[in-house]
Amino acid sequence: MGRMQQLVLAALIVGSGACGGPTDGSPEPIPDGLVVLTFDDGNKSDISFVAETLKEYGFGASFYITEGLGYHADPDKERYVSWEDVRQLHDLGFEVGNHTGSHPDMTKLTVDEIHSNLELIEQRCDEHGIPRPETFVYPGWRHSLPAVEALAERGYRFARRGVSPEHPDGGRGARGRPYDPEDDHPLLIPTTGYAGPEWGFEDLVWAVDQARDGKIAVLTFHGVPATEHPWVNTDPEDFVRYMDFLQERNCTVIALRDLAQYVDPSKRPEDPYGPIRRRQANGG
Ligand SMILES: [Zn+2]
Repeated sequence: MGRMQQLVLAALIVGSGACGGPTDGSPEPIPDGLVVLTFDDGNKSDISFVAETLKEYGFGASFYITEGLGYHADPDKERYVSWEDVRQLHDLGFEVGNHTGSHPDMTKLTVDEIHSNLELIEQRCDEHGIPRPETFVYPGWRHSLPAVEALAERGYRFARRGVSPEHPDGGRGARGRPYDPEDDHPLLIPTTGYAGPEWGFEDLVWAVDQARDGKIAVLTFHGVPATEHPWVNTDPEDFVRYMDFLQERNCTVIALRDLAQYVDPSKRPEDPYGPIRRRQANGG
């Protein structure tokens, strides 16, 4: 095969998209029932329970890894994933995303510290043959304009926050807004629901019901179970019930990076916080 034929073939393969998307690169229409699954903190259950369960359903998901929290205090990796586990998550086809080096409150960091926190996880991924992360979730839901700017500078496409400020958050699971790509900045995507003692099946149904007319339900889980952080716990039997429901409803269940099939991440509001401020001014 000549060099030109190779290039044409490569272009055809890239252009066809991993999920059979259109060849012109324009996003596909957002289907009703589009659900993004995200798992924060690198709990051991990511690899010991969640990944194999999601495989049974054929669902995509993103796992957000940090070396903060109890990562270093757990040398035997009984509660948190090891980098070998993370590599396995990637090999299984799941997305590995960045959740910072030390799980800091990003609103308290200098710009240099924000960059070094992002860089550490990028380096670890590189060391373990995992692609450089394209998506991010804010530790402790704490986000800021300098963090958004640093993420944009480093080429991140999507980042997820929590349910506040638009929705109240008692810290034990909560409902939030669906992601509206026509309005929200792609580096400040709201969580539509995060699991905990005060978030359950009815809240999942509510979140899925929001995923229509161009809006997307973004769900956040931590450990299944979350042994160290009971306020964001999900019991394995509940988790299976949730996944059964997503399947029954014929949801399209994807990783955060896979939003690029439906959303052009380069289309961003000029002021990242404009939509949030406007909602707050309008009373939520
Ligand atoms: Zn976290």
